Amino acid sequence: MNDTAGAALTPAQQAPCLLGNYAPPALTLARGEGAYVWDDAGRRYLDFCMGIACNSLGHAHPHWVAAIQRQAGLLAQTSNLFSHGLQERLAQAINARVNANDDNPNATNGQTGRMFFCNSGTEANEALLKLARLHGLRKSGGKEGVAIRVVVAAKAFHGRTFGAMAATPQEKIQNGYRPMLDGFFAGELNNLESFERLVGEHTAAVLIEAVQGEGGLSTATPAFLQGLRKLCDKHNALLLFDEIQCGMGRTGKFLAFQHCDVTADAFSLAKGIAGGFPMGAIWVAPQHADLFTPGSHGTTFGGNPLACAAALAVQEVFTQENLVHKVATRSNTWHAQLHTLAQKYPATIKSVRGVGYLAGLALHTETPPLIAAIRQRGLLATPAGDNVIRLLPPLTATPGELQECVAILDKTLAA
Ligand SMILES: *Cc1c(COP(=O)(O)O)cnc(C)c1O
Repeated sequence: MNDTAGAALTPAQQAPCLLGNYAPPALTLARGEGAYVWDDAGRRYLDFCMGIACNSLGHAHPHWVAAIQRQAGLLAQTSNLFSHGLQERLAQAINARVNANDDNPNATNGQTGRMFFCNSGTEANEALLKLARLHGLRKSGGKEGVAIRVVVAAKAFHGRTFGAMAATPQEKIQNGYRPMLDGFFAGELNNLESFERLVGEHTAAVLIEAVQGEGGLSTATPAFLQGLRKLCDKHNALLLFDEIQCGMGRTGKFLAFQHCDVTADAFSLAKGIAGGFPMGAIWVAPQHADLFTPGSHGTTFGGNPLACAAALAVQEVFTQENLVHKVATRSNTWHAQLHTLAQKYPATIKSVRGVGYLAGLALHTETPPLIAAIRQRGLLATPAGDNVIRLLPPLTATPGELQECVAILDKTLAA
């Protein structure tokens, strides 16, 4: 047990020493177990932030803790100059799940993709964007700078580094950092015509979230994604999915785009992949896998044994506890309860958003007062997009814990 996190700071430690890029946090957290966390005063909260959708097994899952402890005592970091075998095991486990029968096998045509492991979501998307550049180069017969365009959706969130930030068409993300990287254009989610106007011979890729996480839980329709697939095929552009938040079982399928009967050329994973241990990844369909060649991309830490052990533990628990299937069934009841709540408080709640355990309430009002009020009653949630309260249970959340979330929201809204 970590007995230092959340310990009271001495006056010297309280002197400003962190940069001001985050708003002052509402709480100091000391420890967690399952769906709950405790603050430094010993107060317990139902944690439906989960490190922003990262702790897929909840806090301190015993299997995950043991795997990390064991691996830390064996081998933690090797660089990619050497193999340690766990990247291959993880890539095979993920491929097996991607192609599992209860998911849509068409999503990858049953293909075994090739994977690359890194340390975060934004890095995974940088790798996708570099893949897009290499595809564009091939598409234009080896001429650099011709087919470099990437088309994204309005309100998308793809990350904070320069490539991923350019792919994130939001003023609050890009403000102060211009000029952006060239070649990014934004269409409207679920408006295929707006993408048809932007995709052409200069397009390397379309990058899309099947369910927008930070953008406010808007969901792409099957018709829209199938239309994008045809559009990309027509213009020899890659169709890339950002599954960093909506993937890894959170929507009740292993990948969110698997709800929509489309195939991906590549996709990115991160948040939930290693249960809260920092890791990102990309999966690339076999026909594009040769775009990366030795030396064309790399990372020092990415895919190290410790991160892989954490991610393999997540895969093992997914199997042992049949978690993705549980998310699909349990979320039905939960969403029904959230809809009942929306009917009960129509003056506050506009609609229920999202899929599976990536859910939210769109409000008529600003979110911070309600988020503070539910925190007072012991529930942690996080805002998304315009006036959406986002609820991110661990994938292990039981019907009782989902019910507790609804009960706290109900009491708070009644007060
Ligand atoms: C969180 C997120 C990212 C960025 O991940 P980081 O690990 O914060 O860099 C990218 N895309 C989506 C959809 C995300 O939710």
